Amino acid sequence: MFPVYRESERPLCPFCGEPFGRPPETDPKREGDFYMWPCPCGAVGAYDATGHNLGDALMEAIAFACDDDWEKALSMEPEKDYEIRYLDGYRAGEHRVLGSGATYKSGLGAFVFVKLKSLKHLH
Ligand SMILES: [Zn+2]
Repeated sequence: MFPVYRESERPLCPFCGEPFGRPPETDPKREGDFYMWPCPCGAVGAYDATGHNLGDALMEAIAFACDDDWEKALSMEPEKDYEIRYLDGYRAGEHRVLGSGATYKSGLGAFVFVKLKSLKHLH
């Protein structure tokens, strides 16, 4: 039976609600290689296919938001300089979100989104 696609399962930017694109089908076990999705609202989503490297995905997303300036990215402080929102329980094959808590038991992917609080001081 085909699963019902509920509205709550649509993958959306957790900051602005913009639907985001499906990550390309790449080798999901390759470490340190995260699909980045820059949202029009300024947030950056990093996709962790394993759901277990969200710390790394987070840093990559921050660096991406800082134009790959790692020095700047590493000096930034959570809450003060940027906000973090997680989106877990993502099933890539169906491009839908099964909801929080589903990631760890089933090996689903997860996204971490960051949004810099002030874009002004970056340039
Ligand atoms: Zn957004």
